[in-house]
Amino acid sequence: MREIPQIRFLTKPTLSPRVGPNLKEGLSTMSMLEKMIEREFENVHYRYDKKTGLRSIIAIHNTKRGPSLGGCRFYPYPNEEAGLKDVMNLAFAMTFKASLADLALGGGKSIIFGNPKTEKTRDKLEVFGEFVASLNGRYITSVDSGTTPEDLNVFKTKTDHVVGMTQDFGGSGDPSPTTALGTFVGIQACAEVVYGSTDLNGKTVTVQGVGNVGKVLVKYLLEAGSKVIIADYDQNKAQSFKAEYPDVEVVTHEEILFTKADIFAPCAMGGVINPDTIETLQCTIVAGAANNPLASMEIANRLHEKGITYAPDFAINAGGLIHVADELQGFDAKRVDDKTRKIFQTIQSILTRSKKENISPAKIARDMAKEAIPA
Ligand code: NAD
Repeated sequence: MREIPQIRFLTKPTLSPRVGPNLKEGLSTMSMLEKMIEREFENVHYRYDKKTGLRSIIAIHNTKRGPSLGGCRFYPYPNEEAGLKDVMNLAFAMTFKASLADLALGGGKSIIFGNPKTEKTRDKLEVFGEFVASLNGRYITSVDSGTTPEDLNVFKTKTDHVVGMTQDFGGSGDPSPTTALGTFVGIQACAEVVYGSTDLNGKTVTVQGVGNVGKVLVKYLLEAGSKVIIADYDQNKAQSFKAEYPDVEVVTHEEILFTKADIFAPCAMGGVINPDTIETLQCTIVAGAANNPLASMEIANRLHEKGITYAPDFAINAGGLIHVADELQGFDAKRVDDKTRKIFQTIQSILTRSKKENISPAKIARDMAKEAIPA
C-alpha cells in the first residue's frame, strides 16, 4: 500500500486577500495532496511569520539518497497556488538532478513569496533561516532566482544547513560558471550523438538569456568556434554583452525561439517550449541550463517525435548543484570540475538509450534517475 505523505503546517498558511480562492477553499490543498501522492513527495512545509510578513514553503520530495538540497527562490508569485506548484516542480526535479549527478543527496526546494527587489528584509531572511533549521537537516538550502550569496550569509546566522554563501562566510562562490561548464560539455555530448562529433566549430547556437550562466556558456561556445546568436529580455544586457563580444549576433527575446540554428540553448526561465512555441522551433538540438524549459512531458514527447534532441534540464544543468554540494565535504575545485565534466557521459548515456528504446530523453533521464534511488 502507498504510504500517505505528511503535510505539516508549521503555522497556519497565510491567506492574503489577493490570493483568491485557491487554498482558502481547500481545492488546491486537495490537488496538492493528490500531487504529493502521485509524485511521492515526503513533506511540504509552510511558514508564515506575522511579525516580518514572511510567507514561505519548503518542499521535500525525496531523501532516500541523502538530505534534500535545493535553492531558495524569492519570487512575486501571483498567488499561493502558483508558488506551491513551482516549488513542488522544482523539488521534484532536484531529486532527479542529485541522482543523475551521483550525489548522496535528495531533492528539495524552497520559495519565499514577494518581490525580492522591494520586499526582501533581513528579518524575513532570518526567519527563513530558522524555518530551515527547524527541519534538522532534512533540507539544505542554497541560492536560486531572487536570492543571493549574501542572503545565504543571513540564513547561515540561523542554520548550518545552507551552502553557497559568499567565500568570506565559508561558501564556494558563484556556482554559475560550473553550471555553464556542465551545460557546455552536455551540448558537446548532444553534438556527438546527433552529428557524430563533439566539434562545435561552425555550428550555430542560439542562447536565450545571457545572465550568470548564459554569458559564460557563450564564451565556451565562441572558443569552440560556434556562431552564437543571443537574446536577453534585458536589451541593455544583450547589447553590453555584444560590446564585449562583437562576434555574437543579437536578436530580440521574441525572435530567439524562432531563429534558425543547429542548437537552441535556453538559459532564461522555464516553460519556454510549450504548445505555442514548439512548432516554430528551427533547431535539431535543445540543450541549455534553464530549469524546466519544457512546459510538460507531452512537449518532451512531441520534441522526440519531431526529431529534435533534448538534453534533459536536470541532467545538463547539474553543475551548480555539484559545485555547492561539494561544500558539504570541504570544497575542492578539482573534484567539482571532474564531476561536472561527467555530465558529458550522463547526457551521452541518456541520448543513446533514448535512441535505442525510441523513448524521449526526458523520460529516459527520469527512469535512469529513479533506478539510482533506493526504493
Ligand atoms: P540569471 O537571472 O542570471 O539570467 C537569466 C537571464 O535571462 C537574465 O539576463 C534575464 O534578463 C534573461 N531572460 C529572462 N526571460 C527571458 C526571455 N524570455 N528571453 C530572453 N532572456 C530572458 O539566471 P542564471 O543564474 O543565469 O540561470 C539561468 C537559468 O538556468 C535559470 O532557469 C536557472 O534556474 C537555471 N540554472 C541556473 C543555475 C546556476 O548555477 N545559476 C544552475 C542550474 C540551473
